[in-house]
Amino acid sequence: MSNISIKIRPSIANLKPYSSAKEEYTGTNSVFLDANENPFGTLNRYPDPLQKDLKAILAQQNNTSSNNVFIGNGSDEILDLVFRLFCEPGNDQAITFSPTYGMYQVLADINNINLINLPLDETFNPNPNQIAPYLDDSSCKLLLLCSPNNPSGNDFDREKMIDIIKDFSGIVLVDEAYIEFSEQESLVNLIDQFPNLIVSRTMSKAWGLAAARIGIAFANEELIAWMNRIKPPYNVSLLNQEAAIDALMNTNLFDANLKAISLERTILFKELDALEIVNKRYPSASNFILIEVPDANKLYEYLIGLNIVVRNRNTLVSNCLRISIGTKEENETLITALKNYKS
Ligand code: PMP
Repeated sequence: MSNISIKIRPSIANLKPYSSAKEEYTGTNSVFLDANENPFGTLNRYPDPLQKDLKAILAQQNNTSSNNVFIGNGSDEILDLVFRLFCEPGNDQAITFSPTYGMYQVLADINNINLINLPLDETFNPNPNQIAPYLDDSSCKLLLLCSPNNPSGNDFDREKMIDIIKDFSGIVLVDEAYIEFSEQESLVNLIDQFPNLIVSRTMSKAWGLAAARIGIAFANEELIAWMNRIKPPYNVSLLNQEAAIDALMNTNLFDANLKAISLERTILFKELDALEIVNKRYPSASNFILIEVPDANKLYEYLIGLNIVVRNRNTLVSNCLRISIGTKEENETLITALKNYKS
């Protein structure tokens, strides 16, 4: 057995996966009476279960091959599938560095996996000493690194992440949901070098397709094949696949939007730094900014009263609010409200 196969949960390793009609027959122009579809309509046929057209574009844009790409119904689906592939409920453990994306804990709880939350250091970076005791712990099957990290907004140090991937005996998922906003290089080009590395991405952020639910994982072919075995057969709708392809083909729009968000981020940095109410503004390599204020709950309620919704992260990082970067007008509305705030 390969190194990856040994890491798969035994019940999954022995699974006979569902095989859809569309996977068994790839010809076109045929009489399709195989899938109990309705013969009438425009959305009456099941979509391509392996999203081949979409993967071909993603593979080309990311300098890899389609066999190294997996598409999920949002990257939340990918995270859930990865828990289910590697972690035996009630027995195995996963690790992350906190504060981080809240779904890791929720998915661990749903899958009955103990999630070890190691503290990030004061610069919100993983501390290699914290992880050292777990590197060879055979019950620790999965490590989740979020870079740029949500809610802190910073990149993790690339070399530190690579050391961890090298040394950890289990699977490392690097969640790059916000990587397009960052100047740091993605880890995608390391998937051939590290068989235990999965890089997840999403089209919900920089690509502006949160409603379309397109998550992407890059990994070696063997890992991708395992993910295909356990996914729901038609996990990404035709409409969503088409929306993703349209967006990926329109790189001019992508570049323009990314530039506008990055410019707005610079303006917001300046505006927030000048406000007395902001005790601390954290650096951001993402499309959101974390700020510390004297009383986050009170400020959050004040903003809600003005129909301005930010994310209260007080329970994760004391007295912190996370602000998504909006349009110029939205950001100006927020800054005006903050200027008018009387504590
Ligand atoms: N990872 C991170 C770090 C996120 O912040 C989010 C969404 N907020 C996701 C993954 C999930 O994204 P989606 O399911 O929309 O792809």
